[in-house]
Amino acid sequence: MELPQKILIGENVLRRLGRFIEMPKSARIVVASGLNVQQKVREMVASSLEGRVSWVDVQLSDMKNVRSVMKASEEARCIIGLGGGKSVDVGKLAASKLNLPFFSVPTSASHDGIASPFASIRGSEKHYSIKAKPPLGILADVDVIAAAPPRLFAAGCGDLVAKLTAVRDWQLGHEATGEYYGEYAANLAMMSGQLIINNSKRMGRGDKDAVRGLVEALISTGVAAGIAGSSRPCSGSEHLFSHALDVIAPGKGLHGEKCGIGTILVAKLQGLDWRAIRAALENVNAPTTAAGIEVSDDQVVEALVSASAIRPDRYTILSKTRMTRDGARQLAEESSVI
Ligand SMILES: [Zn+2]
Repeated sequence: MELPQKILIGENVLRRLGRFIEMPKSARIVVASGLNVQQKVREMVASSLEGRVSWVDVQLSDMKNVRSVMKASEEARCIIGLGGGKSVDVGKLAASKLNLPFFSVPTSASHDGIASPFASIRGSEKHYSIKAKPPLGILADVDVIAAAPPRLFAAGCGDLVAKLTAVRDWQLGHEATGEYYGEYAANLAMMSGQLIINNSKRMGRGDKDAVRGLVEALISTGVAAGIAGSSRPCSGSEHLFSHALDVIAPGKGLHGEKCGIGTILVAKLQGLDWRAIRAALENVNAPTTAAGIEVSDDQVVEALVSASAIRPDRYTILSKTRMTRDGARQLAEESSVI
């Protein structure tokens, strides 16, 4: 099992980043971050870090950006990924390739890559997350994350409800193929999904308490992946649906938004309480329809039909169902996604 060693979640903790990473004063530190985030917090972060700091602008989560972080990190003692998804993913993979300690400092809570050993990088041969190493430490400043756009918060909730169908798919895979199934990792991931279902009205307020709950749950699911040694507890057919939409309708919808909609669809196929999932997503102001993420009805149907081919080695409800176009359309209509 590879797990994060240090986690600090709290109000106003970004200014403690320097003390948190415990690097010597002479250490070279690379901070991978987008320009938007730098505008907001660069001064505070710079004054907190005592070492010689190099900033690398991350624009996209692709291999080109990973290579530029690696190039800047040749003499570095650690890499910090500061920002939303992209900077954390890029920094994490660069650090993993160079075998350097990585610190994850999320400025929004839109997906579970904050703590997981996986990085979502575009342009690699696979359309799903690739294995890296988990962060050595995670520092989450609730004030900073609460100030992020509400849409990112809602997307994080979407990535959490996805754990309910992901774990069900994992159980189905275990039954069908005898693959390893870890009860503890499964329960840990499921608890995070359940948090949204049970508390969606309170979470929907998006206040600091809700942000803290969301961040804790996202970190727990990353830890569940670390315990399982695979993304199985976090990512099932709802994620394959989201990855299929990445290809069919590039640039439309956030990862967590697509996963949330995928969860409604797949939960219905699995016989789970899909209405409760949809209601919870509505309560946290996450989209529940094709129109909500500006994709067409046909694109949703196409994504459902092609999802299982994204990752044929992973057994899910879609491997069992063998989705036809008519079946996919009926499913999407009955669950009011289209
Ligand atoms: Zn996800």
